[in-house]
Formats: sequence, C-alpha cells, structure tokens
Amino acid sequence: MAVERTLSIIKPDATRRNLTGKINAVIEEAGLRIVAQKRVALTRAQAEGFYAVHKERSFFGELVDFMISGPVVVQALEGENAVATYREVMGATNPANAEEGTIRKQFAESIEANSVHGSDSLENAAIEIAYFFAQTEIVG
Ligand code: GDP
Ligand code: MG
Repeated sequence: MAVERTLSIIKPDATRRNLTGKINAVIEEAGLRIVAQKRVALTRAQAEGFYAVHKERSFFGELVDFMISGPVVVQALEGENAVATYREVMGATNPANAEEGTIRKQFAESIEANSVHGSDSLENAAIEIAYFFAQTEIVG
C-alpha cells in the first residue's frame, strides 16, 4: 500500500447540523490525516464544474442546488490507501445501504444529502484536490 491523498467534502446537510467535528473525528480515527481544509460557499459554477461528470444524470440540477444550499468544508486527506480507505469510511452513496459505523450510516439524511464526498480513484483525487487547493495550501 502507498500513501495517497484524496479529496473530501463535508456537504451542506452536515455543516448545517454542525457535524464537521464529529465527521473529522471519524476521519482521524480511521488513520487519515487532514492535510488541508477550508470552509467555502461554492458558487453555482464551481459546483457544476466539480460534478460535471454527472451532468447528464437526472438529479444533476438538484445536486448542484443542494451543494450550494450552505457552506461546505473541502479537505485533502492523506494516508495509506487513502482513496479506498475513505470510500469505506464514508459508506454507500445511499445511507440505507451504508454499513454500521460509516459516516453516511451515522449522519446522512438521504441519497442526496449524504454528508460527504470522497474521490473515487487516485486519478480523480489529484484532479479534485487541484480543483480546490494550491500546492502551498496542503501541508503534509
Ligand atoms: P458518491 O461517489 O458515493 O458520492 O456517489 P455518486 O458519484 O454516484 O453521486 C454523486 C452525488 O450525487 C452523491 O453523493 C449524492 O449526493 C448525489 N446523488 C447520487 N445519486 C442520487 C440520486 O439518485 N438522486 C439524487 N437526488 N442525488 C443523488
Ligand atoms: Mg462519486
């Protein structure tokens, strides 16, 4: 296994309920280090650009509306096998299918308002981290 970085977003449903610290605790307990973090209000253009891969999906418009409905916390996470590790810690997209102990099982409200984003591959992780952070903002 190699040390990797992945992009995490704590979504508006979670920041609204003041869950940033609880989610960060789950991340850190899983052995991942938060090596960059900032709270931002995404613009519509930023949210559309971030989720461009989903632009043909029926829920794209709702997803973008949701992502700009409140602040988000964007994070770069570092650790052994970070991409897959964080996907495991997040749990399934639909919280009804998420394993016990995962962030989505504990905190998600719905398949859309599911509390966190995590990159799905190492290649996408690099693209997504660069979408939000300058190299100088990441301190490992
Ligand atoms: P993820 O990688 O587990 O986050 O899931 P996807 O990449 O498939 O989807 C991106 C995000 O779109 C999800 O995290 C949800 O916030 C949202 N989403 C996924 N499926 C649906 C759906 O069927 N309906 C709605 N409204 N949102 C969805
Ligand atoms: Mg995804």
